[in-house]
Amino acid sequence: MSTLVYLEHHDGVIQKGALGVLARALALGGDVAGVVVGHGVAGVALAAGSFGAPNVYVVDAPDFEAPLPQPRVDALEAVVAASGAENILFASSVLSADIAAGLSARLDAGLNWDVTDFAVEGGQLVAKRPALGDTVLVDVGWTGTPRIALVRSGAFEPVETGGSATVHEVAVTLQDFSTGARMVEQAHEQASGPSIEDADVIVAGGRGLGTQEGFRLAEELAAALGGAVAATRAVVDAGWYPYATQVGQTGKSVSPRLYIALGISGAIQHKVGMQNSGTIVAINKDPNAPIFDFADFGIVGDLNQVTPKLAELLRARKG
Ligand SMILES: Cc1cc2nc3c(=O)[nH]c(=O)nc-3n(C[C@H](O)[C@H](O)[C@H](O)COP(=O)(O)OP(=O)(O)OC[C@H]3O[C@@H](n4cnc5c(N)ncnc54)[C@H](O)[C@@H]3O)c2cc1C
Repeated sequence: MSTLVYLEHHDGVIQKGALGVLARALALGGDVAGVVVGHGVAGVALAAGSFGAPNVYVVDAPDFEAPLPQPRVDALEAVVAASGAENILFASSVLSADIAAGLSARLDAGLNWDVTDFAVEGGQLVAKRPALGDTVLVDVGWTGTPRIALVRSGAFEPVETGGSATVHEVAVTLQDFSTGARMVEQAHEQASGPSIEDADVIVAGGRGLGTQEGFRLAEELAAALGGAVAATRAVVDAGWYPYATQVGQTGKSVSPRLYIALGISGAIQHKVGMQNSGTIVAINKDPNAPIFDFADFGIVGDLNQVTPKLAELLRARKG
């Protein structure tokens, strides 16, 4: 079985999700190679080696400077032809989802998305993905090769193994229609702490925080723990917190070591985005809130009283 893992990178850093998919592909066995596309990306290919990729296909040219999907479809098509890979795996992101969809159309290949795990059965790759609002896990396959999969964010953890990769440079001629789009401007959100995808600790706030100002409590607790702040859709829709922090079915999937839910009822659409967290702590004044059904620890009480005390204790302990 031969597998390519697309290693999405920004500012010279490979995305955590892509490294997690690489770790899972290596654990499954067979020939595994990373794919790095960009301009001036020798350092990125080097980094892929230290996360266990024995081989890395590199497409390096000024055409790939901007993070646009269509030129990357051309690049992936060329790498698939050069490598003869049977499986092409992507970690979910806006860019990777576009590339995976474009590649699927270009190669007339099947694409399974929202995958949360893989298995090898009879030498064939089988993907696992949640269905029916994440209430069941189903096995999905492909009717031919190459097989393309888009993996749910946070599904796998990266594993730093050390080592170095053999680099295979691939030259690509772009299709005329692939050069039609131009990146006019890129704006980066100002962030003071870790992003919710990367954070080990997340303090998430829900409607129970009462107002936009109520999020100060979540921010203080997150600061005391060195974590990031997330939100439910209810508060994002109300304009209390940015969409980039929304966890759940129509937001992001996260898997921190600790997830503290403040004033969150625990609706299924929220649960699907955070149920892979290591330890879930819920603070809610309603003892019958559904979140207590899947929290590891629960505090029944008013978050306005509990949260500041918790933050104070943590700060005192830190000294
Ligand atoms: C198609 C679809 C997609 C969706 N996608 C998402 C998604 O991606 N993410 C998401 O989060 N939701 C999503 N939702 C919405 C979801 O169904 C819920 O409405 C939402 O998660 C509820 O948010 P909440 O827990 O903040 O608010 P509520 O359900 O209103 O819960 C507030 C909680 O705060 C508690 N509380 C109130 N005051 C206090 C206090 N002083 N102290 C302690 N506790 C208090 C209450 O007891 C209650 O349990 C989606 C819905 C649909 C239909």
